[in-house]
Amino acid sequence: MEHAAARARGNRNWLSAIALATVYFALAALTLRYTRFNGGVALIWIATAPLLAYLVTRPKRLWLIPALACGLAGATATIIFGLGPKAALPFALINVGEAIGGALILRRMLPRSYRFESLREIGIFLGVAGLLMPAVAGFFAGLTANAVTGLPMLRNWFDYFTGHGLGAIAFTPLVLLASSGEVRNWTAKANARERIEAASLVVIMGVVTLGAFTQNVLPLLFLPILPMMIAVFRIGRLGAALTITLLTVIALICTIEGAGPINLIAGSSGMHAQFLQFYLACAVLIAWPAAAELKHRKIIHGQLQAASAVARLVVDRTGDIIIYFAVDGTMQYISPAIEIIAGYGPDELTGKMPHSLIHPADMDEAIRIHRLALQHPDDTFIVEYRARSADGSYAWYEGHSRATVDEAGQSSGVVSIIHGVSARKDAEDALVRETQTDPLTGVLNRRGFDAALAERFAAGSPVAPFTIVMFDLDHFKAINDTYGHETGDLVIKAFAEHLQGMLRKNDAVARFGGEEFVAILDGATAQTAHEVCERLRVGFAQFQRQAVDGRAFSVTVSGGIAVYREGMDVARLLAEADAALYRAKSEGRNRLALAA
Ligand code: GH3
Ligand code: MG
Ligand code: MG
Repeated sequence: MEHAAARARGNRNWLSAIALATVYFALAALTLRYTRFNGGVALIWIATAPLLAYLVTRPKRLWLIPALACGLAGATATIIFGLGPKAALPFALINVGEAIGGALILRRMLPRSYRFESLREIGIFLGVAGLLMPAVAGFFAGLTANAVTGLPMLRNWFDYFTGHGLGAIAFTPLVLLASSGEVRNWTAKANARERIEAASLVVIMGVVTLGAFTQNVLPLLFLPILPMMIAVFRIGRLGAALTITLLTVIALICTIEGAGPINLIAGSSGMHAQFLQFYLACAVLIAWPAAAELKHRKIIHGQLQAASAVARLVVDRTGDIIIYFAVDGTMQYISPAIEIIAGYGPDELTGKMPHSLIHPADMDEAIRIHRLALQHPDDTFIVEYRARSADGSYAWYEGHSRATVDEAGQSSGVVSIIHGVSARKDAEDALVRETQTDPLTGVLNRRGFDAALAERFAAGSPVAPFTIVMFDLDHFKAINDTYGHETGDLVIKAFAEHLQGMLRKNDAVARFGGEEFVAILDGATAQTAHEVCERLRVGFAQFQRQAVDGRAFSVTVSGGIAVYREGMDVARLLAEADAALYRAKSEGRNRLALAA
């Protein structure tokens, strides 16, 4: 089995080498027969194209047979149509050597691809196959021609260089494209309309080129460039390959036959042939780079489309809101999730600033984070804020923001991935409330009181006038002792309710411990505080209470009032209230005392 497969492979290699050598011979014979105007080397040489294409696309171990076969074919052509038997061997070596040298360098510089998908590829290919190798090989060709026939060395170097360079430039890309399967790919993928379009463009190119080159009244050399470029833009590299081949074949035959605008130039046939090559080289240099660049952009466009399809899918499907903010903060893009989460249509907010959405208290922080993200494009920043839904209610959100950067590395905007955190915020708030609440009475505990007081002192000093009152139930030990602890608890609860009922809703009320309470009276002067607390004290004392065993009794309360004065700190204010309470107790209880 393996032997049979290896033999089949070997046979195929021989067959392709013979086919290659046949093509090589035909092309060499044609160009030698018709383009040796100067009596030396051929002015046009295209046989190297299939050999070079063959070599760059196959492993080096398969090079020997085709190289020998082409050398033999070339030598035969030289003997029959060229400089004769003496030049046959050196020219075979020079021509095949040029292809091998070019293939070695190209494989090193373009290790994977001969698809002409970028300007770099085209540049390297043209530099190596179109300039370097023909120049080097031309040197030896010039020497040989000079040695064999005594013809001028420089003249033959130049003829060889231009002929081989053009041949490589004009034909090798087409052969490479064809042998790399690109043409087959295109044919397989193209639909009927595209095939008709391609065929029509080729026909138009043929007609226009024939029209330009079968007349020699007007210098219409520019005319075929037009359909050629249309073909490049419509069918890419294949269009370039087809139209350039067509142009080369028609221009070559017509010009050699004495027709076409190049024959308008006063000069020898050799000069015409060389001008023709110059013209064709220009056409190649117009079409191929454009085709390569188009292909390159097409590839990038495809990658971009794939990436944006993924991005769009993520953006559309995620439960988070994704907003793209421009540098100035306007919302450039808002993902559809905003409709479900906040009730806005995505288009409703596009192009607007978020100022009308974000809670005024959180706006500064949101702006700060936006600027921070722009300044540090490598980091992600997290911001929490309240934002208004379409129905006017506020909810908490958490945004993860990161800057996008342009090609120059400059921040070009901020992408923020936002999700609602109201549930978490509510849970956090509930937890905080729980730790700040006295379980028996439901008013603030000591920790809650400290927080409430700290909030009022946050700006340095509270908004004056500002008063705190400390209460302590009188002879409470006796109540516990007489009616039991349970009744004592009921009295403590009753006082907390009484306190809350008598004070304003925003006045903070806290159980400081045991049967001791504190109240914060915002905006109360000493006088108002005293009036309010006096009503409170009297009302509490008047109330008839009932113990759990049914016995009736009453309880009194004492209070110490401290008024905030400029420069006082929290500890001082509390100490003054405590001292006042102590005084009220010592003066007989069931009374208020004002801090001195
Ligand atoms: P004074 O008039 O000087 O305030 O006398 P008093 O007996 O009230 O003395 P003080 O305020 O120092 O005593 C508080 C008593 O309150 C001590 C304790 O037995 C009682 N007590 C503290 N916490 C609780 C509680 O949660 N429930 C009940 N039932 N009693 C408490
Ligand atoms: Mg007491
Ligand atoms: Mg007490």
